Amino acid sequence: TNAELLSIIIKCVNFAAIKHKDQRRKDEQGTPYINHPIGVANILIQEGNIHDPVVIIAALLHDIVEDTNTTFEEIENQFGTEVCNIVKEVTDDKSLPKAERKRLQIQNASKKSHKAKLINLADKLYNLRDLQRAIPVGWSQDRVKEYFKWSKAVIDGCRGTNFSLERELDVIFADRIAQD
Ligand code: NDP
Ligand code: ZN
Repeated sequence: TNAELLSIIIKCVNFAAIKHKDQRRKDEQGTPYINHPIGVANILIQEGNIHDPVVIIAALLHDIVEDTNTTFEEIENQFGTEVCNIVKEVTDDKSLPKAERKRLQIQNASKKSHKAKLINLADKLYNLRDLQRAIPVGWSQDRVKEYFKWSKAVIDGCRGTNFSLERELDVIFADRIAQD
């Protein structure tokens, strides 16, 4: 029912807010980190026209295992197996070095499920817009440029998933190339 869905969405936002409470974005202002997962879910709904609750809940939780003490078991118990499996798909293996994780994101993008690809698209769209808005603390222009290049390679593996999100990403990549 509608009431049940609303209840689980708010439970999820609350869970994520508590888990991410001590974390900040990398911008100068130190924006609360929770703005990011909420923003990614919002992009999926407002711009991607995605209304599948499983995708929205997984989007709200997409960085929670990577960045907090939350376990997949906790996600499974609180939000079910389907959500947990999508969060697994979008979570990097933290036992690997950072450069290897980034390489694997490019290599594995096209093998992911449709739902995981949707989250990848919205996640990159949010982060690239964030980078356009402000350069993270300590980043050189070169590092920003590398990040755009890497993101484009990941996104190229997620194409054919959502027309609107891919179009928005292409606007950003076109702007970028015009600058370089
Ligand atoms: P990070 O992965 O460390 O940072 C980017 C990530 O930070 C984003 O994907 C996003 O992830 C999160 N994030 C938090 N705040 C912001 C924000 N305000 N704007 C955008 N993203 C934000 O950086 P890199 O991608 O550079 O990864 C590290 C790699 O960079 C290493 O492999 C290393 O080799 C390389 N490196 C390159 C340098 C250079 O000058 N070229 C210098 C140093 C390292 P999320 O969605 O999870 O929040
Ligand atoms: Zn993210």
